[in-house]
Amino acid sequence: MRILLVEDEKKVLSFIKKGLEEEGYVVDSALDGETGLLMGLEGFHDLIILDINLPGKDGLSILQELRREKITAPVLLLTVRATIEDIVIGLDTGADDYLTKPFAFQELLARVRALLRRRVDVEEPLLRIVDLTLDPARRLVFRGEKKIELTAKEYALLAYFMRNPERVLTRTMIADHVWAYDFDPMTNVIDVYVNYLRNKIDTGYELKLIQTVRGVGYVLKVE
Ligand code: CA
Repeated sequence: MRILLVEDEKKVLSFIKKGLEEEGYVVDSALDGETGLLMGLEGFHDLIILDINLPGKDGLSILQELRREKITAPVLLLTVRATIEDIVIGLDTGADDYLTKPFAFQELLARVRALLRRRVDVEEPLLRIVDLTLDPARRLVFRGEKKIELTAKEYALLAYFMRNPERVLTRTMIADHVWAYDFDPMTNVIDVYVNYLRNKIDTGYELKLIQTVRGVGYVLKVE
């Protein structure tokens, strides 16, 4: 489960990030609104924790833009003084919950768990290209009738390909979506993982779905 945390108070940010990481979540973080929005628009977070009062762009504007761009991840708002007005605007804009500072980490964790549980219950549509199917709700992959076992990284990589069929994905794009932000796309790790994935979904099939675009990256398509 991957969480985006946008919070400009460094102390609060590291306190939340550390706590969530200890619980096994992958946490990407941003200290200002603009960066937070860009990261949120990537669309690969399972949950977004958004401080309302931020430099650059405030939390409610970010939330508005995320919802406009069809980012459906649950959003938990953090606010200092939760006036009724703030809360109503936040919930109307598409927030799922809010928490007033200061709060105990256990309280945040309880909200996070509840929101993520709710998300799992939502049926996401199947992704399909020819006979390759990915079921996001159940995290299952099939080629024809055959169930394909993937590691977490291979699954994330394939899900990214399948959400962007026919689109050339550069190593940098793949790194940004599938690996944490400090990952160096210049290593050959991505190529290694694409090959693992090919061995599982393409090897033995006449129709190959992952194509190499020499010098650029990869594309999932039917030639
Ligand atoms: Ca703040």
